[in-house]
Amino acid sequence: TLVKTLEQNGIGRPSTYAPTLSTIQQRDYVVKETGRFKPTKLGIIVTDLLREHFPNIVDVGFTAQMEKELDDVAQGDRNWVSVVSDFYGPFARKLEGAEQRIERVDTSEPTAETCPNCGKPMVIKTGRFGKFLACTGYPECKTTKKYVKSTGTKCPECGADVIEKVTKKRKIFYGCSRYPECTFATSRRPLPTPCPKCGKMMVQYGKGSAKCIACGAIVKGEKSEANQ
Ligand SMILES: [Zn+2]
Ligand SMILES: [Zn+2]
Ligand SMILES: [Zn+2]
Repeated sequence: TLVKTLEQNGIGRPSTYAPTLSTIQQRDYVVKETGRFKPTKLGIIVTDLLREHFPNIVDVGFTAQMEKELDDVAQGDRNWVSVVSDFYGPFARKLEGAEQRIERVDTSEPTAETCPNCGKPMVIKTGRFGKFLACTGYPECKTTKKYVKSTGTKCPECGADVIEKVTKKRKIFYGCSRYPECTFATSRRPLPTPCPKCGKMMVQYGKGSAKCIACGAIVKGEKSEANQ
């Protein structure tokens, strides 16, 4: 797990694990999907930029060394002024250089949707309040739409599309697009193939298996069409 990796590399302290995990989720760098963290496109771009412009700071060894020095300061073995100034001088110079070199990064993702007002393609953008669809004709056309990620499956209760949603705690789940009229929801990814026994919806069940939400039948070798 991520926390184990942090522990093994001496990064962070028990008091910083939880804030670290919630920060990377809040900033949309990762999403939690069936209990695992997955990097987002934004997360990958930010990591690449940091690697390129601050190679020693994103370096695992650097962070571990820094934390050890801070521990020394906490125990009174080292003077914090010298630790911080050793770090800060070179860092400030780097930061200035990077500010000039890093241009605004385009994190938008293409979609099949077209703008209802001007017909240009729409892209997924990430804003302060999460993802949304925006017209590529911007700034002339300022059309935006709610971002909806279809799962390609139909609600077993009403037949509407089932879409990917995110809870307030940034966990992915799947629910009926007619919410709140229809409250169908499942935490496991719905699959396009219906149950061979009863014809109802099957959801992903562990790696490469599917489980029927109606009769409970488990089918092996059912591939999910995740993120295609
Ligand atoms: Zn438009
Ligand atoms: Zn429904
Ligand atoms: Zn079934």
